[in-house]
Amino acid sequence: MHCPFCGSRDTRVVDSRPAEHGRAIRRRRECEACGDRYTTYERIESLLMVRKRSGRTEPFRTDKLRRGLESALADRPVGTGTLDDLVDAIETELRAVGTVVSSDEIGRVVLERLRELDDVAYLRFASVYKEFKGAQDFEREMATLEPAAPVSQEPEV
Ligand SMILES: [Zn+2]
Repeated sequence: MHCPFCGSRDTRVVDSRPAEHGRAIRRRRECEACGDRYTTYERIESLLMVRKRSGRTEPFRTDKLRRGLESALADRPVGTGTLDDLVDAIETELRAVGTVVSSDEIGRVVLERLRELDDVAYLRFASVYKEFKGAQDFEREMATLEPAAPVSQEPEV
């Protein structure tokens, strides 16, 4: 949080109290650099809702998205930091769509991101999401992938 008066990040909380009937916390802050005071609020982020194929809606669950991505990326050369960034990026993109997104929309966004990141993870997720029935489904999907980068001569370990 930067001071709105001088831009400094050195701030001290001088008062903290519940606000908005307990749905927020109001903090009075003092800038250590210029001494001016300003107020910040901490609130629960509004829930993103998911419309299932059945027509039911339920709150979007970040942990559920994360688990789906984890299984698609299992054993792939992608670090936890990348997974965290991916989860954040997908949730941000979904929130930009609106307060209610369909499960199809989520699948589409996830597939786009995985396609940029890792072909194997993309195919794994697509096979679950698109309910592949057989080998021809895999081949059709592989044909949509970008031409592969020059294949490394390193043997797989
Ligand atoms: Zn300041």
